[in-house]
Amino acid sequence: MNQRVELIGLSQPELVAFVETLGEPAYRGRQIFAALQHRRLRSFDEMTDLPKELRARLNEVAQASSLQIESRYLSSDGTRRYLMKTRDNLPVETVFIPEEHRDTICFSSQSGCPLQCTFCLTAQLGLLRSLTPGEIVEQIIIALNDAYGTGVKPPRGTNLVGMGAGEPFLNFDSLLKALRIMADPNGLHIVPNRVTISTAGIVPRILDLANVFDRPHLAISLAAPTDALRNELMPINKRWPLEELLNACKVFEHSLKPGERFTFEYVMLDGVNDSDEHARQLANLLNRHGLRAKVNLIPHNPAEPLPYQPSRAERVTRFKDILEAKGIHVYVRRPRGRDIFAACGQLAARHETLNAGRSLLSEVAT
Ligand code: SF4
Repeated sequence: MNQRVELIGLSQPELVAFVETLGEPAYRGRQIFAALQHRRLRSFDEMTDLPKELRARLNEVAQASSLQIESRYLSSDGTRRYLMKTRDNLPVETVFIPEEHRDTICFSSQSGCPLQCTFCLTAQLGLLRSLTPGEIVEQIIIALNDAYGTGVKPPRGTNLVGMGAGEPFLNFDSLLKALRIMADPNGLHIVPNRVTISTAGIVPRILDLANVFDRPHLAISLAAPTDALRNELMPINKRWPLEELLNACKVFEHSLKPGERFTFEYVMLDGVNDSDEHARQLANLLNRHGLRAKVNLIPHNPAEPLPYQPSRAERVTRFKDILEAKGIHVYVRRPRGRDIFAACGQLAARHETLNAGRSLLSEVAT
């Protein structure tokens, strides 16, 4: 078994402490942190400003990188999807979405996912394992290096969304640690204000997050306005039903500071959760709890063998109008990367199973 220390998942003070155990001065720890996190180097051999002996020692006792790109796919809209592998050969998927004023990177918090949302392909993998802080951070490093070149400063700001594979709040400590490492000004310097984490509704962690100072924005995936329907679409609802979930949301909303965002996500499934009645139920539910959070409507991304289709455009508009008439702020999200199965709910290490969609893919050799 590989016992080498994963340096990409260490904070700057931890790296300083680590090099001191090797008899090295503290500044070497800061130097290595900057090499990994700011210069985005993924091997000790590239750190030519370190003495050769130290690089050799680091190669024996530590590792600079924990993921490898297995495949990458380029969408006609510029979106890039990566299938990466951990050192123990588990799939990790990451999506890079370029936009006019910023880039967004959607990262995974787990390999697979233990929750069983019926509209999500990742659910079919089950949980393989939660990712380490280093495996979370390195997804961002790999995506930025691939898009711009090793260490090259991105021309636009980088936003992160924790909406890839996995339930982030079932890997809460590693997630928060990864976000703190990424916020370091001597590293990637992506501050929590640029990060949004989406949860299926792990109530105790929502309450925990209400007490975290340096926290990301929060999004709650609802998908249904009643317990009966939500139990079916998101079985986690049986553990934490809507009443409990929305009470926790209210506590969280009370804790919001200026500039923080809190949203609900509502995936729209044709003929399943998109009727006028569903819209009225959703508006009444949020209003009854006094929640002012905006609702993002997300047209479902079809993915075989899932039995759902996206709601038609006129249905989405009608749903939005009903919510707005009841005082709810609504935004309709534009799907990206559909042709490379890069959209929400489609990440399931499709590399091996791409078939019908293959002609749509523009695969870039790695
Ligand atoms: S939607 Fe998110 S929480 Fe639900 S199964 Fe998929 S990855 Fe897991």
